[in-house]
Amino acid sequence: MFMCQRDSFLQELDTEIVQIDQMIDLDSLTNSLSLNPKLFQEDKSLFKVVLADTVFFPEGGGQPDDHGVITKKAESQENIVVEGSVIRVIRNGTVAEHYVALAKGGENGGLSKGDKVTTKIDWGRRFDHMQQHSGQHLITAVADVKFGFPTTSWWLGSEESYIEMDTKEITPEQIRAIEDEVNARIRENVPVYVDVVSLDDPKLQTARGRNLPEDVKGNIRIVSMAGIESNVCCGTHVSNLSQLQVIKLLCVVKKKGKCLLHFLAGSRVIDRFTTMFQTEQKLTDILSSSPGQLPSAGEKLNLTLKNTRKSCQCLSKDLAVLIATTFKEKYSSGVENGNKLWMHHRDFVDLDFGMALLREIGDAKKSAIILVTLKTEGTFGYFLLTGDEKVIPKAKIIEIGEELCKILDGKGSYQKGNIYQAKVNKINGLVKAQKLAQQLVDKLFDKVEN
Ligand SMILES: [Zn+2]
Repeated sequence: MFMCQRDSFLQELDTEIVQIDQMIDLDSLTNSLSLNPKLFQEDKSLFKVVLADTVFFPEGGGQPDDHGVITKKAESQENIVVEGSVIRVIRNGTVAEHYVALAKGGENGGLSKGDKVTTKIDWGRRFDHMQQHSGQHLITAVADVKFGFPTTSWWLGSEESYIEMDTKEITPEQIRAIEDEVNARIRENVPVYVDVVSLDDPKLQTARGRNLPEDVKGNIRIVSMAGIESNVCCGTHVSNLSQLQVIKLLCVVKKKGKCLLHFLAGSRVIDRFTTMFQTEQKLTDILSSSPGQLPSAGEKLNLTLKNTRKSCQCLSKDLAVLIATTFKEKYSSGVENGNKLWMHHRDFVDLDFGMALLREIGDAKKSAIILVTLKTEGTFGYFLLTGDEKVIPKAKIIEIGEELCKILDGKGSYQKGNIYQAKVNKINGLVKAQKLAQQLVDKLFDKVEN
């Protein structure tokens, strides 16, 4: 049993290094212990440290491990000579292994076996875990007694936690009843205490979770909430249910014939409420609506958007037809016959508009080489270059297309129908691109005509 289990409110402990080893194969360790490499690479080395006793809880029973710092002070006990970050703690049999990141340089980062050190946990992280873990025990007990839903496992997440219950359904009324009761127990100031018993102790017969893993030997911890339940558990817990403040049950997610009951306990309820309230305020501003009217205001906005999109699609199709008609009329009457390149630019339309325009022009593209440029948003856009294959062959289309890509910072490809299509990042280079296109097309016809 570790110090953290004897006193779950202890945040600091003076202890001694029993063993220290530098970790070499960091890649495989990163995977097996899911470590964040940013915490110990570059200017840091990683060590596995065993302490005479520990205030750090090693991951177990669904509760994540503690993080914190380990420091070695000078003999005057004032100056810190070495400070390392404890980034992971796991249990290996009866031993807690601390993974410590230390600044590079000096043998073993300045720590050695027998050193007296001060250890301190990240209390915010630990107390949050205590609230979620004790909250889980309480919800498990109430759901079992009230509705006979057995807990099969649970998960303490960084934002939300859930309890897996072996039942096909939990109704909204049942969720409400469980939530009401757990919060009533919190208001009753129920003490939470730990008994350490031997494997043959009769207390074990009535405790939850008494099917122990095989490597458990010696004494067993039973965590009890007075008058509510007892549970075999290695975790760190609050000492009174009042320290849970409040429990909020969020939702039920069905999975493989079981129900995952999501919940928040303690400070997480306040934090989540703060975020939700700020979101609500922003949304009421954006949608000019009262909080109660937000869903209908959102639905209304969605519908308007859908209708606007539809009408935009119809309008741009009509526009493509109109522009194509103008093109055909001009070229058939010979008005534009002098100009072998027809250019058209449009803002705030998508590629579909350009393709629709080319479709509408159809065979009339024999009359001229066509360059359609489109601005979608910001400096982004597309261009389409096409012409009759007899007038401008594939190789030439690609050549001119690639030249235009250089100016417009684009990337394009040759498409069916003798079209060069490109997506561009700098449509603001349009004037320059149009000028170049005119020069290249003029050059093409000079050669042909001479
Ligand atoms: Zn537990």
